[in-house]
Amino acid sequence: MNLHDFIMDNELPIRLGFFFGIFAVMALWEILSPRRRLQTSKAVRWTNNLALVFFNTLSLRLLFPAAAVGVALHASVQGWGLFNVIEAPFWVAVLFSLVAMDFFIWLQHVMVHALPVLWRLHRVHHADLDFDVTTGARFHTLEILLSMLIKSAVILLLGPPVIAVLLFEVLLNATAMFNHSNVRIPEAVDRILRLFLVTPDMHRVHHSVEDDETNSNFGFNLPWWDRLFGTYRAQPRAGHEGMTIGIRNFRNERWCSRLPSMLGMPFADRMRGHAINRRTWENAHEQ
Ligand SMILES: [Zn+2]
Ligand SMILES: [Zn+2]
Repeated sequence: MNLHDFIMDNELPIRLGFFFGIFAVMALWEILSPRRRLQTSKAVRWTNNLALVFFNTLSLRLLFPAAAVGVALHASVQGWGLFNVIEAPFWVAVLFSLVAMDFFIWLQHVMVHALPVLWRLHRVHHADLDFDVTTGARFHTLEILLSMLIKSAVILLLGPPVIAVLLFEVLLNATAMFNHSNVRIPEAVDRILRLFLVTPDMHRVHHSVEDDETNSNFGFNLPWWDRLFGTYRAQPRAGHEGMTIGIRNFRNERWCSRLPSMLGMPFADRMRGHAINRRTWENAHEQ
């Protein structure tokens, strides 16, 4: 059996194995050494956040059964995309593909904050009133599907090795759980770690209710894009324990934490938040 067949046959179990393994480690770490006190019921949040993750996984599997690795395999068979046209050493193709895909995910993240319609989808991720390992996987189903379409387009242009795509999916999933987790990492360690990897303290800034803090630190894996493009912010003004997590006008626990309202949130008539041309907080109603 060749490598491609093995990957195509085992893509889901490989990814689920890493998901559950890393989830368990981060969940335990959060219990043993939490960074902040959670503000809302963990039982309610976890049940609903994980229900959304389950629903997303099923939807994605139904609509895109071959997933991103299937797109990469198709591109390699057809000879489409940069690395299926040029001759490059395997490891160069793998490394360049990982970095390039991370850049496009970063750019996509900036776009879903900037464009009002896309912010409607992405605010489901930001409406979480607490910040922990389950926040990392809490995205609206339509944003997950949009993400898959953008990723597929990038793969068709890039023609990355199939193994690079699988590696990227596992890495992105792992780092998203890591950098959303409510874990305490000593400041000295964090300072060194965030030179190479987005840390929980770095990404937490992005979940602040403060406009300028939310529009910072868009990275999921590599912290360099934010530093390079001027969106890096080291720490929240109020400190990690004092800062408020979520969206300024979305403070109703029931509305922010329950699956039905999460799924309906993009369509709710409350277009406020961090989109580029919606910045007025005056006369805003509490939700
Ligand atoms: Zn965001
Ligand atoms: Zn986030």
